Amino acid sequence: MPYKDREKMLEHSREYYQKHKERIREYYKKNKERLKEYWKLYYQKNKEKLLNHAREHRRVHALHTTNKIFRNINKRPYPKDGNCEICGKYQLKGLAYHHWNDNYPELGMWLCFFCHQIVEGVEKKSLKTILKLLKTYLILKRKINKSWK
Ligand SMILES: [Zn+2]
Repeated sequence: MPYKDREKMLEHSREYYQKHKERIREYYKKNKERLKEYWKLYYQKNKEKLLNHAREHRRVHALHTTNKIFRNINKRPYPKDGNCEICGKYQLKGLAYHHWNDNYPELGMWLCFFCHQIVEGVEKKSLKTILKLLKTYLILKRKINKSWK
């Protein structure tokens, strides 16, 4: 649902509630047990569908980072084929939404675990530094392998 329509819808339901507040409250009070039973049955009957819908909603509209949760955002669409946007590989467990600016959490791309690790590294260090670290890694690895005799 586009953001504008969602806002309009929320605004409408807020207005409706304000207008009929007393009647709505009374109805819920009067039918408390019946409604409870109804929702319980509804949940049991539609559990799978409801959980899937909640999961899908979180995937498109929420972003969890290490120190923040962004809600009510509109991410770029999830790849229809479920493939990583960089390497093109399918990731069974689902792709992660990589973003690079907390002021614009919508801007991002859908990546597999491996590509996500790499680009996070690129965001933190320059390419030159990364290449230097990799070179040191390979030299050290060769050294350790040689000493193992
Ligand atoms: Zn990838």
